[in-house]
Amino acid sequence: MFDARTARMRPATSVLIDDGVIRLVAPATELTAESDAAAGARRVEGADRWVIPGLIDAHVHLSHILYQSRMTGDEVLPLYLGHGVTSIRSTGDNVPAQKLVERYADDHPDIAPHVFRCSFLIDGDPPWHPDVGWAITDPADVAPFVAEMAAWGVKTLKIYVGTDRDIGRRVIEVGHEHGLVVSGHLLDYHVADAVRDGLDCIEHIYTVSNFLLADPDDRHSIDLDSDEARRLIDLIAEHQTWVDPTLMVFWGTLLFMDVPEVIDHPDHASVPDRLRAFWDRDRARRALDWGAAPLATREATWEKYLRLTTMLHEAGVPLLVGTDAPEPQVTPGASLHHEMEFLVECGLSPGETLAAATLENARVLREEERRGAVEAGMIADLVLLDADPLQDVRNTRRVTDVIRGGRWLAPATILAHAPTT
Ligand SMILES: [Zn+2]
Repeated sequence: MFDARTARMRPATSVLIDDGVIRLVAPATELTAESDAAAGARRVEGADRWVIPGLIDAHVHLSHILYQSRMTGDEVLPLYLGHGVTSIRSTGDNVPAQKLVERYADDHPDIAPHVFRCSFLIDGDPPWHPDVGWAITDPADVAPFVAEMAAWGVKTLKIYVGTDRDIGRRVIEVGHEHGLVVSGHLLDYHVADAVRDGLDCIEHIYTVSNFLLADPDDRHSIDLDSDEARRLIDLIAEHQTWVDPTLMVFWGTLLFMDVPEVIDHPDHASVPDRLRAFWDRDRARRALDWGAAPLATREATWEKYLRLTTMLHEAGVPLLVGTDAPEPQVTPGASLHHEMEFLVECGLSPGETLAAATLENARVLREEERRGAVEAGMIADLVLLDADPLQDVRNTRRVTDVIRGGRWLAPATILAHAPTT
């Protein structure tokens, strides 16, 4: 059993689940077949199995990308749960649409993960994404907007690229009054200012690297060896601001969208045709933008993103594990495993990576009392693997069973509910 607090494996452990909640975690010898029978329990032998907490994807979108794919958010939910992802954290979308997706997930616990919602993208005027952006240009408008989002029950407020410091600082202040986590994908609001102002979470590694450019007009001119880079990394570490690198979206959508190994990655086999068709349409648009730079330049930028992730980790910055699914070439569910593989490439141990994808991701949802670890009192969200994920992080893909709120589920049965067309 993986212990998310120590990032180590505990041998021969029994887990007693009752009414969807973990009641007891004990050395296997303490719970015998006799004691189980006396308690009326169903006993499931886990020999040659490794138990990990249910995985959490800290960065997904539930409606606007799927809208462009002519799909609704509920349709891809089985792809998450079937790959052991028992909770997903939205990072910005249409608010009523998210509520409907959450309701669908609650009504279909055998095929869908828990859904945690986010605000619209708080942005300048006009918003970058007109369908899910919300323009705020007067600080006086922040408090009523945040109160409205809190009343909708969102977990996260997301500050987007066109928000300036006056608005952003107020969002953080009022958001914290409401007990909400404030995340930022920033451009106009300098990330160092946002961190000093109390931002909780930085979305995307380039929200850090875009403020370290030798040439402000060239996104590839990242200088990680400057004093400025050192100061920014130290500042983020000092404030313990979460960084959610979402390396997957840079690999799949932005840097390598024209590379055959990325387009035809085996993980995409489970993706419905409509989503693949959108990915194909999107590639032409990306090719004119990010794809305009030679591949060698993009590869060098990718190496800098990995190196910056390493530097943040080594400085003690808490990292999250998010993907930005279902952005092009970022397959819901499977991509979280791929993201973990990238984090191991960045120097995290498999145990540190798995702890980030479970307990740390639960913390950013303020759910660490209920999710993210296999402990008494936690919701019974567990995944069984048939190989040790600490030996090789790719073994997290070897899911044999998914337990969602105490329900014992087979991955193939879950995945059969995802549409193919
Ligand atoms: Zn996103």
